[in-house]
Amino acid sequence: MKKPDVGTTLGKCVFDNGVIVEGSGLRSDYATLRQGRWICGECLLGLLDTAFEAFLQQQEDSKKETEKLIRKVSKYGWKVNPETGKLEKL
Ligand SMILES: [Zn+2]
Repeated sequence: MKKPDVGTTLGKCVFDNGVIVEGSGLRSDYATLRQGRWICGECLLGLLDTAFEAFLQQQEDSKKETEKLIRKVSKYGWKVNPETGKLEKL
């Protein structure tokens, strides 16, 4: 995508409702479009801690979910081969 000229209005940030103008530093340098809506760089970077926390939590939750599934299949006489990662009948 061609970089817009300095001073061009990119759009309005959905979080802080402020206008994002090309060449306004953090706000425009790291601005991003999501589903046709702008998020300015300041708001995006401000979400980093929360987003990272959510990412770690999600990893933890999916690990738990996997362990739960493994316990469930073993109840029905299957196990996961640790070398291949595939299900095997016991
Ligand atoms: Zn913003």
